[in-house]
Amino acid sequence: MALHSYRIAREPYYCPAGDEITLFEAAHADRLPVMLKGPTGCGKTRFVEHMAWRLGRPLVTVACNEDLTASDLVGRYLLEAEGTVWQDGPLTLAVRHGAICYLDEVVEARADTTVVIHPLTDDRRALPLDKRNELLTAHPDFQLVIAYNPGYQSVAKDLKESTKQRFAALEFGYPTAAVEAEIVAHEAGIEPEVARRVVAVAERSRNLRGRGLEEGASTRMLIHAGRLIARGVSPEAACRMAIVLPLTDDPDLRDALAAAVGACF
Ligand code: ADP
Repeated sequence: MALHSYRIAREPYYCPAGDEITLFEAAHADRLPVMLKGPTGCGKTRFVEHMAWRLGRPLVTVACNEDLTASDLVGRYLLEAEGTVWQDGPLTLAVRHGAICYLDEVVEARADTTVVIHPLTDDRRALPLDKRNELLTAHPDFQLVIAYNPGYQSVAKDLKESTKQRFAALEFGYPTAAVEAEIVAHEAGIEPEVARRVVAVAERSRNLRGRGLEEGASTRMLIHAGRLIARGVSPEAACRMAIVLPLTDDPDLRDALAAAVGACF
């Protein structure tokens, strides 16, 4: 299978927060494995899409979950009319053809799945295809990128030290208010002033983190609120639907968030 369909044709809009583009380019030049650390919805996926486009590399993305097996990543034999046929998994596809492989939420994957990537992240740069009795050497352009949300998982689910230490890391947080408003205005198609107010709601929600809220509103949530506003929904109703209700079931926290919305609009 060709990687043509994994090429990104149009520039994915990305607003940098600092020097992450230059740093990623340096890591890519050396094909260093990179870990993107940060809370959900803060732009990690968009960043890697932007970088794949910028570097002219195909991008293979895998959303990890606890049911993901090593075979799901690497590949398996399928029974077809002509007999058994080997089908590359997404990781093998990227390794073989020289794509950037992005494993999203990698801690969700089981430990036996995670170790599959180890030989790819050191000097061997190889992927064992056990079922084929083959050691596949990575294409010179192959690069592995993983996303990791440090605040989210329990200790039991954390990445193993032996996995973590194989990656260079870039830290992502919520952008500054001005940058975030620009992103929300761009992505949702709303006026900058309205976007600024939605961002102000988010800032208040992020202050509630640790005081009952596991995480504050992500940039993604703000864009959802913005899109509802762009559709004619009132800002209060949009923020309630896209931010307050998804974030918490706790009545007191909902009241606190509703008050934040009221104060910003
Ligand atoms: P993550 O992968 O960290 O969970 P995403 O990359 O999916 O988050 O970000 C969610 C949405 O927020 C994106 O689809 C994009 O619209 C927007 N976004 C967040 N940060 C940025 C940024 N720096 N530049 C452009 N868009 C961004």
